[in-house]
Amino acid sequence: MAKIRLLDEDTINKIAAGEVIERPASVVKELVENSIDANAGRVLIEVKDGGKSFIKITDDGCGMDAEDLTLAFQKHATSKIRDAGDLEKIATLGFRGEALASIASVSRSVEVRTKTRDSLSGTYLRMENGKIAETKEIGCPVGTSITVWDLFYNVPARRKHLKGAEAELVHITDIITELAIIHFDIAFDLFTGKRTLFKSAKSDSWDDVLLRLFGLKTLQGMAALQAEGRGWSISGVVGDALSLRSSPDRIFIFVNGRAVSSKTIATALRDAYRNIIPLGKSPMAVISLEISPELVDVNVHPAKREIRLLHEDEISSVLFQRVAEALANHAKPAQAFPASSGELGEQSLADQGTFGTIAQSCEQSTLPIEMGPAEPGQANEERPKLKILGQILKLYIVAVGEQGLVLVDQHAAAERIRFERLTKLYRSRSIRQELAEPVAIELSPSEQIMITSWQETLEDIGFEFSPFGGNTYSVRAVPALGRRLESAEAVHDILRDLFLRGKVGPDSTNRDDILKLLACRGSIKSGKELTVAEMNRLLQDLGECDNPLTCPHGRPVMVVIDQNQLERLFARR
Ligand code: ADP
Ligand code: MG
Repeated sequence: MAKIRLLDEDTINKIAAGEVIERPASVVKELVENSIDANAGRVLIEVKDGGKSFIKITDDGCGMDAEDLTLAFQKHATSKIRDAGDLEKIATLGFRGEALASIASVSRSVEVRTKTRDSLSGTYLRMENGKIAETKEIGCPVGTSITVWDLFYNVPARRKHLKGAEAELVHITDIITELAIIHFDIAFDLFTGKRTLFKSAKSDSWDDVLLRLFGLKTLQGMAALQAEGRGWSISGVVGDALSLRSSPDRIFIFVNGRAVSSKTIATALRDAYRNIIPLGKSPMAVISLEISPELVDVNVHPAKREIRLLHEDEISSVLFQRVAEALANHAKPAQAFPASSGELGEQSLADQGTFGTIAQSCEQSTLPIEMGPAEPGQANEERPKLKILGQILKLYIVAVGEQGLVLVDQHAAAERIRFERLTKLYRSRSIRQELAEPVAIELSPSEQIMITSWQETLEDIGFEFSPFGGNTYSVRAVPALGRRLESAEAVHDILRDLFLRGKVGPDSTNRDDILKLLACRGSIKSGKELTVAEMNRLLQDLGECDNPLTCPHGRPVMVVIDQNQLERLFARR
């Protein structure tokens, strides 16, 4: 008996959907891209329950007539290309003709209302389980409105992997933000219930959307750039060395109006920032490449996120040069960088306020010095019974104690000290520290969702903030980490970190995790040279900890090499 059989249409659609429709945001992306391809001037996006139970996209584009509408939901049905030759010159966002079929196959029902400019009446179509359940003539405005009910109701494996409604909303907001940057000539409105998550007006440049996304301060530090070569041109804006993120989530790359992840462009960008920004940090940038359609293959990946470019080398080397020039002219990186190493400086033991003065008064070399009294007149009893020899590799404090040679990991030690302090403050309900002056921070649309939905947790750990109009939030209190959090950038940074690592979700009730993150955020890092006074202070504070041997993440803080081990090392035993 033959083992090979042809799959039925529904199964084929579900397989295709598996590649294209990963989560509610993918549906939103496909439908809004269809609206853009239909020349809409305005697109309304309404979702419920993070898009899981309801997504409705309404546009004022060209609409479909009754005949096209029934075809639109068939697999490989598209108005955008005619044959394989057209694949060489794709000018639309869609072309595979599978989004609508895929969406219909993985949702309980899809409803469409649509009307073209020329026809007198509109058409209504309802799909159920991927099949046409109803069509009729209706009255409706020119354009198209598509509603998707209960996504993945028949694909439990996918449904299980969806996140909470707020997290899915963040994905959706990110998609709309991305589309709105590059399609600035279209007005977008994204809302859920009564909440507007994103709104943009028709504009003749992307400046309005960038302002909303980055905030005024960051945007002012950004430099515009232009570049071109054979058959291609680039326009973009790149952030200065002060506006950094811990992940590349604020790098937007577009090729012919399509948001993509291009290794070529991302690498050229990263190379231009090398040596200007600290390792592990990412800049903010928007890069839009316009390239003759025959020089790019967008059909590499079903979700079209991946592309293949011709002339890659030329594009990346010119882009690299232009970004480097833009940074040099605009942001004066030579000045910008010390500001970020200043941040490292601030991350030292500044929490007591007194430390700054000790550090300033203690400029002697750090290797290897016998420890005298660090400060004249300071009480002696509290000093640890360790004699500091010095610091090695800008990371380990080397000391001698009663048991032998002691090595202390400065970052792990600082983290432990800070973690215990924060925990005590938290338990005694005194972690909240009012700022001398409230600071104003500008949040991106997705950050606004997070700060609102996580308000309770953030307040519990000491934050106090309120919306200030537009993208701005005013922050009046922060967790008591000391001086470090007094600037708007520092406050924003720590919030980003909490958001990024998902430590402050409604589901995360584990305050320990948050305190660990805060402890790590504020502590001395590896790579910082310490003075004897600083080392002394660190060991003394460590001595006061309940659990000085491991950092909050469970790594060892100190290692003792005793006489036995030394003798073994030197083969005396
Ligand atoms: P593709 O976009 O790859 O062509 P889709 O499955 O997304 O495939 O859409 C199928 C067809 O339905 C499109 O080619 C287009 O002709 C039509 N269509 C879909 N959405 C809209 C819309 N919002 N306005 C007008 N036509 C649309
Ligand atoms: Mg499409």
